[in-house]
Amino acid sequence: MNYEELLKRAKKEIPKKIDSRERFNPPAIKSFIEGKTTIVQNLKNISKYLNRDINHIIKYLSKELATSGNIDGNRVIFTGKFKNYVISSKMEQYINDFVKCKECGSPDTKIEKENRIKVIHCMACQAVKPLPKIR
Ligand SMILES: [Zn+2]
Repeated sequence: MNYEELLKRAKKEIPKKIDSRERFNPPAIKSFIEGKTTIVQNLKNISKYLNRDINHIIKYLSKELATSGNIDGNRVIFTGKFKNYVISSKMEQYINDFVKCKECGSPDTKIEKENRIKVIHCMACQAVKPLPKIR
């Protein structure tokens, strides 16, 4: 492949990348109830997609569902029976509170530490907001 072809290829690939960043479509929660527990199969993928620590998500969901959750390989097991839509709506809340920028609504944010305080730093508008505490 010569230089010109490489250049053409690069030009083709750039808009694709921007597109996929703008389209925010986190994976839907996949879960099922097994005995007295609820197993979420794809929280790891979701945490990767959202660029958040899976333990932070588990902490939030555990608090919201008033239970405890543990990582088991690729799955997360919560004590208690929870319907999929209940976990999904909590996940949506998580995204609103801990992922989306409060200024512009962009989900392209990073958690950073500033003077020992955790903040949400928006990559789109550069706003910096304190990370809400999980209560
Ligand atoms: Zn923003």
